Amino acid sequence: MADRKRFQTVDPATGEPGRAYDGHTRDEALAIAAQAREAFLAWRRTGFDERRRLMRRAAEVLRARRDEFAALMTDEMGKTLTDGRAEIDKCAVHCEFFADHAEAMLAREPAEIGGGTRAFVTFNPLGVVLAVMPWNFPFWQAIRFAAPALMAGNGAVLKHASNVPGCALAIEALFREAGFPENLFRTVLVGSADVAALIESRDVAAVTLTGSVAAGRSVAEAAGRALKKVVLELGGSDAYLVLEDADIGAAAKVAATARMVNGGQSCIAGKRFIVVEEVAEAFERALADEMRAIRFGDPRAEDTRFGPLVSVEARDEIHRQVETTLMRGGRLLVGGWVPDQPGAWYPPTVIADVRPGQPAHDEEIFGPVAAIIRARDEADAIRIANDSEFGLGSGVLTTDLARGERIAAEELEAGLSFVNQNVRSDPRLPFGGVKHSGHGRECGRYGLLEFVNIKTVVVAGAPSAEPAAG
Ligand code: NAP
Repeated sequence: MADRKRFQTVDPATGEPGRAYDGHTRDEALAIAAQAREAFLAWRRTGFDERRRLMRRAAEVLRARRDEFAALMTDEMGKTLTDGRAEIDKCAVHCEFFADHAEAMLAREPAEIGGGTRAFVTFNPLGVVLAVMPWNFPFWQAIRFAAPALMAGNGAVLKHASNVPGCALAIEALFREAGFPENLFRTVLVGSADVAALIESRDVAAVTLTGSVAAGRSVAEAAGRALKKVVLELGGSDAYLVLEDADIGAAAKVAATARMVNGGQSCIAGKRFIVVEEVAEAFERALADEMRAIRFGDPRAEDTRFGPLVSVEARDEIHRQVETTLMRGGRLLVGGWVPDQPGAWYPPTVIADVRPGQPAHDEEIFGPVAAIIRARDEADAIRIANDSEFGLGSGVLTTDLARGERIAAEELEAGLSFVNQNVRSDPRLPFGGVKHSGHGRECGRYGLLEFVNIKTVVVAGAPSAEPAAG
């Protein structure tokens, strides 16, 4: 039996300890998974009217408690109150989207096979889905998986990141308050060392992880051993192509917005800006100006758009990546210094002359650091964009929409491509990556179908035996 872990929160803005929570032991977590499975066995038989009613109620609870939930995120991972409120609103919209559309998306599909035999495809829930989630969007990541999973008739166990225990418990409480059956959605407060035991449990049918490549490998291995379905949403190093015909002022604005999503701590975020030589200098100047204008400030102040990073450790790792990039030939345009004050502060940073062999080129930087890479032309820019272990988001900045659309649709190796817009997730659109950014999808109908049994049913009028072939 694993020990009971204590989850100590730390305010990223000050470095001061906040509330601490007693965790569950491994055995307690396994017992919770068993309770969730019990609840699932009844829930799978509920109709869509009931599921819809409860999921719409969850949206209401989210909106009613928006300020409280936003403040919790600020306390535990430093998100600005403004971003936190927007995150909760997005969660509510997501719940409503799946409340309203899951029934139609999961409707039986008739199949024509002739011979007077009726055949159709039906979509049954799988069971309890274990969700291992990251801290960067504490509510959105969990709700993103939970709304479709519950609407499809599944149960859920959430193992959230260790630094956001209050958010993890609040998410469990919100489903309870919305009226979902007791134990259908449960939070376990355990560390990553207990994840494999949960995956192996007979009470867990499938697992979804959003997090780093290392965590993805470990969860995929455990799911592989247990032969269970796994969805992985991992890191990204999204490339934006800045073509010679781009409106440079507008492109720099999109680039700064795409880079600074959630203080730069987003899996999907413009991280590498690949600029065609002709416009490289102009773009470097424009992006540096945009990023310089963004100042960090108190995440609890109403007008702050950029607050602290999640932790001093994470900030120090980002600074190490920046310094190594500069030592290996990168040219600092803005930022790149560690503020002399308590808390996890770091300024918006832009590095030009980024090349292979530098962390800003080869690794994901999970903070407010934009890398500018020069390319000879469009083909070279596409080659550089695709020369990455990741493939989550991507973008093209150009005034030629047909050209942008062609590159986005056909050339970029990524799960999402945006022309002249900042990268983002949307409940209506499939979200996920290729290569080391993971596999499987969330959101939209493709996301809903990840955790269902796509079952073939064949009904003959009278008993008949067709020749078998596997
Ligand atoms: P992380 O360290 O991988 O943590 C994510 C979750 O996985 C946490 O709950 C963590 O638990 C757990 N975990 C870590 N190591 C594990 C292991 N070996 N076995 C089982 N579980 C494990 O990631 P993070 O630092 O919180 O988040 C940043 C990363 O997530 C970035 O790479 C980012 O790009 C990625 N991300 C991806 C998406 C997406 O949708 N593709 C969205 C957001 C973030 P503990 O906290 O207890 O260690």
